[in-house]
Formats: sequence, structure tokens, C-alpha cells
Amino acid sequence: MTATRLTAPPAAPASSTAPHGRGRPCVITRRAGFSASHLYRLPELDEAENARRFGPCSIAPGHGHNYELIVAMGGPLDADGMVLNLSDVKHAIRREVTDPLDFRCLNGVWPEFDLSRPEGRLPTTEALLLAIRDRLAPHLPLVALRLHEHTNLWADVLAGPTTDPMEAFLSIRTHFAAAHRLARPELSQSENEAIYGKCARPHGHGHNYLLDVTVRGPIDPRTGMVCDLAELQRLVNDLVVEPFDHTFLNKDVEHFATCVPTAENIALHIADLLSEPIAASGARLHRVRLQESPNNAAEVFAETPQLGMAPAALEALAAV
Ligand SMILES: [Zn+2]
Ligand SMILES: [Zn+2]
Repeated sequence: MTATRLTAPPAAPASSTAPHGRGRPCVITRRAGFSASHLYRLPELDEAENARRFGPCSIAPGHGHNYELIVAMGGPLDADGMVLNLSDVKHAIRREVTDPLDFRCLNGVWPEFDLSRPEGRLPTTEALLLAIRDRLAPHLPLVALRLHEHTNLWADVLAGPTTDPMEAFLSIRTHFAAAHRLARPELSQSENEAIYGKCARPHGHGHNYLLDVTVRGPIDPRTGMVCDLAELQRLVNDLVVEPFDHTFLNKDVEHFATCVPTAENIALHIADLLSEPIAASGARLHRVRLQESPNNAAEVFAETPQLGMAPAALEALAAV
């Protein structure tokens, strides 16, 4: 966590002027879980249209998930050396979120998801997280929240006065296996090995790449979705996974015939491949994260080339 990103007066050295760190800023996170069911079926659409738009999620009476919620909160330390008393945090999350939602059908719990009202919306991961944020905001100094529907699908929302109240980030995780060799053709083998080490060996080596794609946008007021999830999954599959999976990237993917397929370059190329098609589908590509091994990953923030794009609030969640 990067406490130094919070706006605060320059921190005094931890000395007698700040006993127990009092006044120094910090971000804390708290995790909570609940199990709930939901159904994606809009009453104004017929059976066939619901099935076309929402796929298996429209099959009555619904299906369920074991949700995982991560709440990031920030503020100055109190005299006891804490941002907040974790017991108070736990009780606020339980009272406002997990008690009302656990073992319930989400469509029926909160008025946001009452589809008989014109302003009602489907309880998607991102719409649910916005509703959770709105319930926790009066009680906790929120910075950001993350909600995992499962390990391969999660939403993030930011909190604070400058946040668009309807905006959310949606991430999907997938994977592919590929081989590569790191070498610049204009250099000799020994020169390449001096730069890339074992990764320059002539016949290549492989990785099981984990790919996270994050899109950003306002949720649709009726479907509760940042984008058509099935369309996003189709784009990632058709443009990245299918062409890259079980290939030797240097030889089988044209771009890497002339561009060294480092994790950074693969992530950048994936962002280039996805940016426009995702924009055409109505969302914005926010981030591509490519994990090459348990020990290294590359991230590209696609909306701006600035390296400082990562919102500090999301960093608080990233390491959880
Ligand atoms: Zn579901
Ligand atoms: Zn490698």
C-alpha cells in the first residue's frame, strides 16, 4: 500500500511530536465474503431476447456466487495508531452489506435491483459494488472497493467527492500458453545473452501467461453493466487468446517478428489490439496486466501513456 499518495501534510518523523504515528496518513483494507444468487432477466424483454443478451445468466430461477469484497479506507492515524478500529469496520460491513446480502437473492434485496421500477437495474458485479459503496460511504472513509464474483471476474469502484457516481471498472482474467525468445536480430548471440541472459537461448522457452483486462465506464442504468461482458470476453478470446495460445510468439505472431516479445511488449501489443474494438463496444480499455510468471508482470494503462495513471486508490486493492 502506498500511504504516501494520500494528501496530507508532510509527515513528521515518527518522534515524540507524533506519538503512535498520530496524524500520519495510511490506507487500510478489510476483506469480507458473502454468498448470494442473482438472475439477469429484464421484464420488458421477451424470453428469447433475455437469453440472447444475458446468456445462461437469464436462466430462471438464477444462479449464485461466493462473493469476496475488499474495502480500502484511508485517513490519518488516531492516538491509538489506527486509521479506524477494525472492530468498527467489521461491524459496519456486516450491518450494511453482508447481513443483508448473505444467502439472499440479490434481485430482491435492495430497491436498486427492483426491476419493476424504471430506475431498477440488474444486480451485476459492478452495479452491486456501486450499491455497496453507497451504503458504506456514510460510515467509513472509503478510498476504493473491489468485488470478486469469482477469480476471473471482478469490479472496482473508487470513492470520494470527485468520483463519477456511476463509473466502475470491470476486469476479466484469462490465460494463454506461449513460447518466446528474447533477442534483437541485429545483435550477436553473445550480445543478446549479455542483455537477456537465458531468455536469449536460441530455441526459446515458454510461459503460462495470466492476462487481466480492465475496462472502465459508467454502468448502464438498466442493465447495470459497464459493457457487454460476453462481447468483452469474445474480443479478448478472438484477438488475443486464440492467436497467441500455444504459439512461438516470435514466429507465429507477426508483430513479434520485428519486436522483442518481452512481457512489456506483449502487454503493449495486447492493449493496442484491444483498445479500438473495446471502444467500439461502448467501454474504454483501462488496463492490461500480463503476468508472465509468479515473479514478474507487466502493466499498461491504456487510456493515457503516462506512467502515473494508476489511481492511488486502486493500488490499495492491487496487492490484496
Ligand atoms: Zn452470476
Ligand atoms: Zn520468458
